Amino acid sequence: ARLDSMPQDNHEATFRTPATRNSVPPKLALVIPCYNEEAVLPETAKVLGQKIGELIGRNLISSASCILFVDDGSSDATWSIIKDLHGKDRTRYRGIEFSHNSGHQNAVYAGLVESLSLDCDASISMDADLQDDPNAIEEMITNFRNGDEIVFGVRNNRDTDTVFKRFTAESFYRLMTWMGTDTIPDHADFRLMGATSIRALSQYKEKNLYLRGIVPALGFESSKVYYTRGSRIAGESKYPFSKMLSFALEGITSFSVKPLRLITLTGFMSILASFVMLIYTIVSVTTGQAVAGWGSMMFSLWLLGGLILTSLGVVGEYVGRIYIETKQRPRYIIENRL
Ligand code: UDP
Ligand code: MG
Repeated sequence: ARLDSMPQDNHEATFRTPATRNSVPPKLALVIPCYNEEAVLPETAKVLGQKIGELIGRNLISSASCILFVDDGSSDATWSIIKDLHGKDRTRYRGIEFSHNSGHQNAVYAGLVESLSLDCDASISMDADLQDDPNAIEEMITNFRNGDEIVFGVRNNRDTDTVFKRFTAESFYRLMTWMGTDTIPDHADFRLMGATSIRALSQYKEKNLYLRGIVPALGFESSKVYYTRGSRIAGESKYPFSKMLSFALEGITSFSVKPLRLITLTGFMSILASFVMLIYTIVSVTTGQAVAGWGSMMFSLWLLGGLILTSLGVVGEYVGRIYIETKQRPRYIIENRL
C-alpha cells in the first residue's frame, strides 16, 4: 500500500509494487561469499543450480536468475571453479573476485550491490557451505512476492554447533540486545533483500559493515523464515575464534556507545570505593590502631591500574574505528568479473 500510493511521476515509484511482484516472477540473485571454498563449491553449485532450475521451472522466479559467487580473495582453486561454472552456463553462474581477503560482510555487500547492476529484483545471501537450507529459498520468495522487502532466515536449532559456539553466540545476542541494537537472534546472513532495500543499504557509507545490525535498522516491511541449519558439507570453518571475536567487537562498537558509558560508571564506582577506604583509614588512624597498609595499597594499586588499562583499551577500540573510517578506503577491490 505504501508503494502503491506513490505518485506515478515520482522516479522513486519505478520500484515494483507488491501487485506487480505477484504477477511477474522476480529476477533473483543468490549471493554466495566464498573464501577458500574449493572443497564445497562444486557440490554447492550443483545443489543451488538445481534449486534455481526448479524454481524457474515452476515459474516462481525469472529465467534470468543467477548464482553470484563472490570470491573473497581465496588462495585456493575457488576462482577457477567459478570460472569453469561460468564457462558452462554464462547466465546462471556469475562471479566477482576480490583482489584480497576483505571479509565475509564485505563479500556479501559486494554481491548485493552487484545484483543491482545485474538488474535483479531480489537477492538472497547464503553461505557457500550449504549450512543455510536451500529449501527455505522458496518461502523467502513467496514472502517477497507477497510484499515483504526483507526476509530473514532464522535458524530453529543449534544442534550442529559446538557447546562453545552455542554459548558464545547466545551471550553475544544477549549482549547486543542489552546494547540496544535491533539484532535478530539466530539470524546470520541468510536473508532475502529486495532491490529497494539494497539501494537503501548502499547509502550506508561506514567501512566497518555489520549487516546483521544495519539491515534490521533499515526499517522495511520484513518477515522471518525458519530453517534447520545443517553442518558444513566439507572443508573447515573460515571463522576461527579470533575472527569471531573481532566480528563481535565490530557489532558492538559500530552500533553502541554503551561501553563508553560503562567506563564512566566503573570510574564513578571506584571513586566511591576509594572514599570508603579513606573513611576506614581515618578511623584506623584516630583510634590509634596499627595500620598494615601494604595490603590495601597493593590492592588498590592493581585495581586502579587494571581499570585504567581496560578503559584505555575500550577508548582505543573506538579511536581505532574512527581512524579506519576517516581513511575513506574502499571496502574491497574487485579484480575480476564474470
Ligand atoms: N567467508 C568469506 N570471507 C571470510 C570468511 C568467510 O567470504 O573472510 C565466507 C565463507 O566462505 C562462507 C561464509 O563466509 O561462505 C561463512 O563462513 P563459515 O561457513 O566458514 O563460517 P561458520 O559457518 O563456521 O560460522
Ligand atoms: Mg559455515
